[in-house]
Amino acid sequence: MKAPSFAYAKPSTLAEVFELLEKHGDGARILAGGQSLIPSLNMRLSAPELLIDIGGLAELKGISIERGVLRIGALVTHAQLGASDVVKKHAPLLAEAVPHVAHPAIRNRGTIGGSLALADPAAEYPACALALKAVMFVEGRAGQRQVEARHFFKGLFETDLRPGEVLVAVEIPAQLEGERSVFLELARRHGDYAIVGLAAFKGAETRFAFLNAGPTAVLAKNTALKKSLAEAKVALKADLDPPADLYNSSATKLHLAGVLLERAWNALST
Ligand SMILES: Cc1cc2nc3c(=O)[nH]c(=O)nc-3n(C[C@H](O)[C@H](O)[C@H](O)COP(=O)(O)OP(=O)(O)OC[C@H]3O[C@@H](n4cnc5c(N)ncnc54)[C@H](O)[C@@H]3O)c2cc1C
Repeated sequence: MKAPSFAYAKPSTLAEVFELLEKHGDGARILAGGQSLIPSLNMRLSAPELLIDIGGLAELKGISIERGVLRIGALVTHAQLGASDVVKKHAPLLAEAVPHVAHPAIRNRGTIGGSLALADPAAEYPACALALKAVMFVEGRAGQRQVEARHFFKGLFETDLRPGEVLVAVEIPAQLEGERSVFLELARRHGDYAIVGLAAFKGAETRFAFLNAGPTAVLAKNTALKKSLAEAKVALKADLDPPADLYNSSATKLHLAGVLLERAWNALST
C-alpha cells in the first residue's frame, strides 16, 4: 500500500520546527529516519497532513564526550552509533545492542531519537536507556527540559514528550573503570524484534532492564537488589508480567527472561 498524501517541510532551524508543530498541532508528525513512521503511513495506521523532516538540523547530530558524560544527538543513526569508537568505549552496552536493531538498511537510516521517541516496548534502546540511567534532552517553544529515562517511558508507545516538543539528544554517564554491562536478546531470527531482551549494568548499583516484557521497557527493581541468582530469579517473577504475543505465552516469555537473567548474572560476575 502507499501512504496517504501529505505535505512535506524540511526546516533548517529548530525554531521553524516548533512553529510548524504549533501551527499544525496533531496534524503534523516529525520525520527522522522514517523507518517506523513511513511503514505506519504505508499501512494507513496514521494519516498526518504534514511531515516535518528534521534531517537537516545540525544541532541534532553528532556524538561527543565531555566531563564523563556521553552526548548522542537524536539524529545519530543506528549505524553511526554502532561504528563509533567513543560509544564502544564509553557506553559499550549501547554498542552491543546496535546489531540487534533490525537490518543494515534500516540501521543506515533509523535514528536513536526516533527509536526513543517511538518507545516501542520491543526496541533495544529504551531498555539500554533505563539500564544506563540516560537523560533525555527535549526542547520546545517553552525551552529545554531534561527527563530521566525512568520518567520518559510512560506506556505503550507513550513518552513524556509534550505536544510541540522534539527530542534533541540523550546523555549517558560514561562507563567507569570496574563497571560492567551486557546486552542479550532472544529472537526467532537475527534482526527480528526480540521475543525478550535484557540490558544489564553493574556498578555501584545493578540494573536489569528488560525489553518486550511489558508495555514499556521494564526495570526489574527487586531482582537487581538480590545477592544470589536464585533469589533474583524468584524476584523476577514479581518484577515482570510480560504480555503474551502471537507466538509466545506470558509464561514462556517469563521463562526466557529468567534464562537471560542467568546469562547476564554470570557474565557480570566473571
Ligand atoms: C523491518 C523493520 C524491522 C525493525 N526492527 C527493529 C528492531 O529490531 N529494533 C528496534 O528498536 N527497531 C526496529 N525497527 C524500527 C527502526 O529501528 C526505526 O529506525 C526506529 O524505531 C525509529 O527511528 P527513525 O529515525 O526511523 O524514526 P521515524 O520513523 O522517523 O519516527 C518514529 C517516530 O518517532 C517520532 N520522532 C522521530 N524523531 C523524533 C525526535 N527527535 N523527537 C520527537 N519525535 C521524534 C516520529 O514522529 C515518529 O512518531 C524496525 C523497523 C523495520 C521497518
